[in-house]
Amino acid sequence: MNFSNKLISWYQLNKRDLPWRHTLDPYYIWLSEIILQQTRVNQGLPYYERFVETFPNVEKLAAAPQEEVLKLWQGLGYYSRARNLHAAAMQVVENGGKFPDSYADLLKLKGIGDYTAAAIASFAFNESVAVVDGNVYRVLSRIYGIATPINSTSGIKEFKKLAQKLIDPDHPAAHNQAIMEFGALQCVPKNPDCDICPFHQDCLAFKDNRIEELPVKIKKTKVLNLFHHYLVTITPSGKTVLQERPQSGIWAGLYEFPFVEASGALLPVELTTAREFKDVYNGVRFRESVYNQQPIIHKLSHRKIHAYFWIIHIETEVDDAINVEDARSKPLHILMERFMTQFWPQRA
Ligand code: SF4
Repeated sequence: MNFSNKLISWYQLNKRDLPWRHTLDPYYIWLSEIILQQTRVNQGLPYYERFVETFPNVEKLAAAPQEEVLKLWQGLGYYSRARNLHAAAMQVVENGGKFPDSYADLLKLKGIGDYTAAAIASFAFNESVAVVDGNVYRVLSRIYGIATPINSTSGIKEFKKLAQKLIDPDHPAAHNQAIMEFGALQCVPKNPDCDICPFHQDCLAFKDNRIEELPVKIKKTKVLNLFHHYLVTITPSGKTVLQERPQSGIWAGLYEFPFVEASGALLPVELTTAREFKDVYNGVRFRESVYNQQPIIHKLSHRKIHAYFWIIHIETEVDDAINVEDARSKPLHILMERFMTQFWPQRA
């Protein structure tokens, strides 16, 4: 039995029953793929269901305000994916509403890269183009004993070429689904159960006891520590103030409290004399206290944010203040969301 037949036989016995596997509609497949790039299946499922329910077709998604799309995406992180999803839906509608039906045309949509185009083209249109995601890298590097780093230019080329060579041109959808599912369920990152694996006779990593070593990944650059001191304004009537982030860069277009950036923890006097603090509270009387002595930590690929939240009671109302419930309904980034859950839980 060849590689693909073995894989597809395994898949037919072991695959999970997931809603996007019951459709050939490229719109639904696309939604599921974009969501699953952010999270695992279990966490992604409710997001997928909410997106499908709120935006049952690409026209509905394209017509929605960006804020609504970001709000629905909230909690998945990496919001540029949600913005691209929205922009691509608008592209589809501008081009007559028909979803592109080939790998080459799918690549023209915003936010659709090699992996997503291959997934949609094969799952929806049975085009014989191999998907290569983290699961595929792991499976191929182990079975074929390949130590080329998967995040190097040569590695990306080598794995793509091998994946394309292995795909069954008569069953590309099943083959691609199968290899991804096999990586997700059987050839898992830590301690795969090789004894029950259909490839254990062929797998070089298993044979040479190199499972833990493969796949190889080049280490990333040093992480930068950032210290954000968020200013949680409370007006006399209990309102607060949010600001929208710029339209580019991290968390673009999402809302947050104004903040002071520093090189570490701050004493109250250091906070209140910082330039950004004075910009916000120029001439306003206030009293301050810190909400969290221990910062909330959020790790990004090259940055680690240490977030402190300060409560600033001001003595006069300000024009741009909003109710806490309105603040909560804005698209917030992950740190804001964690603050809300921890310190401002919603009333039942
Ligand atoms: S034998 Fe083990 S390492 Fe090799 S493919 Fe199977 S599960 Fe993965």
